[in-house]
Amino acid sequence: MLELENVSFTYDNGAGVGTRALEGVSFSVEPGEFIGLIGHTGSGKSTLLQLLIGLLKPTEGRILFEGEDIGQKGYDLKKLRSRVGMVFQYPEHQLFEETVFKDVCYGPQNIGLSQKECELRAYEALRSVGLPDECFYVSPFELSGGQKRRVAIAGILAMKPDILVLDEPTAGLDPAGKNEILDLTDELKRDRNISIILVSHCMEDVAEYADRILVMDHGRLKYDESPVVVFSHVEELEKMGLSAPAVTYIMRKLKDRGVDVRNNIITIPEAGAEIMAAFKRRHP
Ligand code: ADP
Repeated sequence: MLELENVSFTYDNGAGVGTRALEGVSFSVEPGEFIGLIGHTGSGKSTLLQLLIGLLKPTEGRILFEGEDIGQKGYDLKKLRSRVGMVFQYPEHQLFEETVFKDVCYGPQNIGLSQKECELRAYEALRSVGLPDECFYVSPFELSGGQKRRVAIAGILAMKPDILVLDEPTAGLDPAGKNEILDLTDELKRDRNISIILVSHCMEDVAEYADRILVMDHGRLKYDESPVVVFSHVEELEKMGLSAPAVTYIMRKLKDRGVDVRNNIITIPEAGAEIMAAFKRRHP
């Protein structure tokens, strides 16, 4: 559905010496995939996101959406931005209407849909993010942090995107709010076949939710692999300023101390099952 072919990007600083932010990045996104995007600060993640919705154009290489080059002259970027929905960091800062419902209607209205269609989409989007009906007509500013964020995501969902890109969507939320948002993205993937690209600093989150992880390092795509494969490169990740999930280290330590467990465990439920199995083997 979305394909990057050898994409490089240099920020033009005006003085002739630009900053090379991306170097020869290639990957593709298929419908219904959950992709985790990780990398140290300055590795090129934000630049990549801006390229995906055409806010920046590749200095070299091409980005194809459904086979069409989004950088070509006359390409309909407005349409692209409704199909590839972007949830920026702290999206609730962009809520501005008097009511939650009006806020969610704003995007569909902006692309010229009828009032009826806008309202239908707003209802559906608010329901799908699990916001209770009694919140629909209150000011978004009366809601909790997690609820505000869900309203902001509903605003993007009302555009009916095929791909949803989320930049650190759980930043600043408490653990319950954080799980709600991650479970929501997972549901959107499973129930609606929406592809998710989740930028996260939390290795536990990408280990648990992603089908595939893209690892950026100094503007290059270092790995494009399943979570188990990516987190088997613990030493390489540490050199890039990243890490494996905490549970991976614990399981490796247990193995070093002679406990009969696998050393490629990346989630807590998996670790629990593995420890129980080892215990049963030892005490049949
Ligand atoms: P990340 O999102 O992973 O932190 P960025 O895409 O923001 O990485 O940054 C990649 C590189 O591009 C860094 O070296 C950063 O300093 C540089 N960069 C980012 N934005 C700009 C800009 N507007 N002008 C010049 N250089 C930039």
